[in-house]
Amino acid sequence: MPEGPSIVILREEAARFAGRTIVRAGGNSKAVDYAALAGQPIVALRSWGKHFLIQLPDRVLRIHLLMFGSYRINERKDAEPRLSLVFEDGEEFNFYTCSVKTLPPDLDAQYDWSADVMSDQWSARVALKKLRARPEMLVCDATLDQEIFSGAGNIFKNEVLFRIRVHPLSAVGALPAAKQRELVEQMRVYAFDFLRWKKAFVLKQHWLAHTKRLCPRCEIPFLKAHLGKTHRRSFYCERCQKLYASGADARPTGPGRPAASGRTKARAPARPAAESR
Ligand SMILES: [Zn+2]
Repeated sequence: MPEGPSIVILREEAARFAGRTIVRAGGNSKAVDYAALAGQPIVALRSWGKHFLIQLPDRVLRIHLLMFGSYRINERKDAEPRLSLVFEDGEEFNFYTCSVKTLPPDLDAQYDWSADVMSDQWSARVALKKLRARPEMLVCDATLDQEIFSGAGNIFKNEVLFRIRVHPLSAVGALPAAKQRELVEQMRVYAFDFLRWKKAFVLKQHWLAHTKRLCPRCEIPFLKAHLGKTHRRSFYCERCQKLYASGADARPTGPGRPAASGRTKARAPARPAAESR
C-alpha cells in the first residue's frame, strides 16, 4: 500500500497541473460527476497522509490509492481509469484501481493537518497528547492510526518500533514518557528517511526489520505475526525490542513465529491466539 511519502511524491509530480483548467474528465467511478469537472481550474494539489487531494473551486476530489492503486501522467495503462483528467494542451492525469470521492471545498474544516507526519503543520505535541489519551492501545496499532500518524503504514510500524527497540505488543501507556516522545519523534524522522530513500529507489535496501528474517542487532530470527486490532504483519526481535506491558491483559499469550520459517511470506500465518480476544 502506498504510504504517506509516496503520496508526497505524487503531489510533487502533479504540481505541474496546478492552475491548469480541466477540459475533459472521465472514468468508471459512480461517485464522481465527471461532466461537472470540465471547465474547472485546479486551485491546489494537497495531501493528507494517504489521501491525495485535488482542490477545485467548488469541490475537492479525494483519491486514495488503496492497496494496488496507481497513476500515470501523460501516459495510459492498459486498463480503464477510475479518473482521467485532460487539460487544454492535451496533457492528462490518470488514476487506476483507486477510490475517488468528492468532498466539499473547505479542506481545513475537514482535515487535521497537524496529524500528517509529512506536513509542515505536523505537531509532535498533539500526537503525544493523542497517544497518551489512549494508554491501552498497543503500539502496533498506534503506529498505524491515521488520526495520530496520518500517512504511516506497515513499513513505518515495523521500522520505527525496531529503531526505538519497542516490542509491537507494548501498551502505549506502559511506555516511559521519554519512550513515548521518542516514538513520536521517530515516526516523523522515518517519514523523511522513507521519502528520501524512495526518491532514490533505495527504500527496500534500508529496511532493517520489515520483511526481514534476521535481527541485524542480535543475528537471531525475527518473529513474524499479524498483531493487534489492525492485524497487519509485524516483524520484531524478542531480544532487543522490549515489551512494555501495563498489566496481564496487555501481555501477549501467543508468540509470533520465526520470520525465517515463513518461506511463503505473502501468505498470512494462522491467527495467533492472542488476537482472538
Ligand atoms: Zn534483536
